[in-house]
Amino acid sequence: MFYRPAIESVAYTEFKTQLSEGNVKNIRVKGEVLKGEFKEAVERGAGDRKKEIVYFKTVFPSFGDHDLMKLIEKRNVTVFTEKDERSWFSILLINLLPWILIIGFFVYSSRQFQQRMGGGQGFFGFGKSKAKLYDRSVGDVTFQNVAGLANAKQELGEVVDFLKDPSKFNQLGGKPPKGILLAGAPGTGKTLLAQAAAGEADVPFYSISGSEFIEMFVGVGASRVRDMFAQAKKEAPVIIFIDELDSIGRFRGAGLGGGHDEREQTLNQILSEMDGFSPNDSVVVMAATNRPDVLDPALVRPGRFDRKVVLELPDKPAREKILAIHSDAITISGDVDLSVVAGATAGLSGADLKNIVNEAAIIAGRRDKNQVESEDMHEAVDKIRMGPERDQFISDDEKKTIAYHEAGHALTAKNLVGTDPLRKVTIIPHGQALGMTEQIPEKDRHTYTKQYLLNRIAILMGGRTAEQIVFNDISSGAANDLKQATETARRMVCQWGMSEKLGPVNYSQGESHPFLGKEMTEPKKHSEDTAGIIDAEIQAIIHEMEKTCRTILEKRRDSLEALAEALISRETIEDEELDEIVKDNETEPDN
Ligand code: ADP
Ligand code: ZN
Repeated sequence: MFYRPAIESVAYTEFKTQLSEGNVKNIRVKGEVLKGEFKEAVERGAGDRKKEIVYFKTVFPSFGDHDLMKLIEKRNVTVFTEKDERSWFSILLINLLPWILIIGFFVYSSRQFQQRMGGGQGFFGFGKSKAKLYDRSVGDVTFQNVAGLANAKQELGEVVDFLKDPSKFNQLGGKPPKGILLAGAPGTGKTLLAQAAAGEADVPFYSISGSEFIEMFVGVGASRVRDMFAQAKKEAPVIIFIDELDSIGRFRGAGLGGGHDEREQTLNQILSEMDGFSPNDSVVVMAATNRPDVLDPALVRPGRFDRKVVLELPDKPAREKILAIHSDAITISGDVDLSVVAGATAGLSGADLKNIVNEAAIIAGRRDKNQVESEDMHEAVDKIRMGPERDQFISDDEKKTIAYHEAGHALTAKNLVGTDPLRKVTIIPHGQALGMTEQIPEKDRHTYTKQYLLNRIAILMGGRTAEQIVFNDISSGAANDLKQATETARRMVCQWGMSEKLGPVNYSQGESHPFLGKEMTEPKKHSEDTAGIIDAEIQAIIHEMEKTCRTILEKRRDSLEALAEALISRETIEDEELDEIVKDNETEPDN
């Protein structure tokens, strides 16, 4: 990957100074925002905050600036103008927002007032029925609409049986399920599964989202919860679904300031509702979270959310099935092989896959086709995996650097044994990345061998090393590669016992987050001496792998040049073509 430094905000006066000194390369104008590039990096700040600004943005003053245009002309700066994409609707909304809030507050206080006065019509005639407190549906979604997740479906099967015939369950003397925690990464189908359970049991589905409470006025959350439970109980058997439970159910006392009281009151209300169930209430509460680790222990006590169902990211067959389910609604050409698409989407969630299908349909539509073809599908995969393609200013020099950098990654990957096959190399910017080398695993990997991890580090170092070999200089574009390589090496040493010096001992400095992969820090458990050895081992691994990729790239210099040139002229090189370019220039076969 090749990253470009972030765009930094600068004062308008600073921008003017740089402009008059002739240090502004180009300017892109969009509404009142000016973005652009300095010719030479401008240093600002001191100490830790010191930064070099290359890409800047600033806001044109509302009182205008008469001599800006003269200065731009004098300095001969290229100016691009873009249409302001903010629609009249959003501008209208921004202007109306304060009013909506004020009116909303009146509606709210009149509702509170009514409740205290024991119901009836409020001051302004806003009846209770008009205020939307939660969503209720009787869905036609069933387990058929959910691909994969066999374990989760099986566990929920019991809940479905209970809701279908509560009396039978009670006779058998089983403990009826009351609260179920659905834990899984975002988009793994938690909401869908809860809905499907309601559909299977043919019961109403009430849903409310935890995050909505946080911005609310104090007291609203709790009263919503009270209302929803009261309504739902009347319709029992029923499923109540609370989305994003962690946003209200975080460990109490660990609040992040604002909205804290509200969160606690809402949570207490949910708990007291659940405690108040009698065994005959056939109400099942399901709650979704992607952070089961931060939940308040009170939530998972017996009689509350005491069952946990974990939703995994889909494996390859499940991905194919999810793609098939969502492709039903669109027309797909015969050349689309969903199993290939499933193979290229390891690590993506059900929601991502659904987005890919939608995106492919949009792309095909834009091309005036009446069916989605393979190329549309693959473009959609790239877009979801790497972010949308972006127009960027890329100078010829920069393009050349990126091309060699990516060619370095690709060639290293090609010449190592046991790596994931290479699918694509591109220097078209996607999201923040200006270039990408994409490898697709042949199968889903759950464990990694030491050799695989070492190869991965070598490939990551390949970009920077290629720059070094070709230009005898390095750019900042490799920052992310270095971070990933270091992180991988650290885990090899600390978590996986892959360092000979330190042996099979765990030196974890933190538990990693179960779904998001983020490190959660925890005090170190080893001595400073050991910390020194750990760092030395990490360095040794990285240096060793840097050497490995340098050897490959120097030996394959011809291929490196050929691939980089192909990238400069065609920007994206894929599959067989990639093999061809690399093979044609191979002078001696490697073993
Ligand atoms: P979560 O609640 O876990 O964030 P959702 O249930 O909202 O995820 O999933 C979003 C969408 O992704 C669903 O509406 C569904 O269309 C699709 N999806 C996710 N997982 C699956 C799956 N296993 N089978 C079919 N579709 C899925
Ligand atoms: Zn890179």
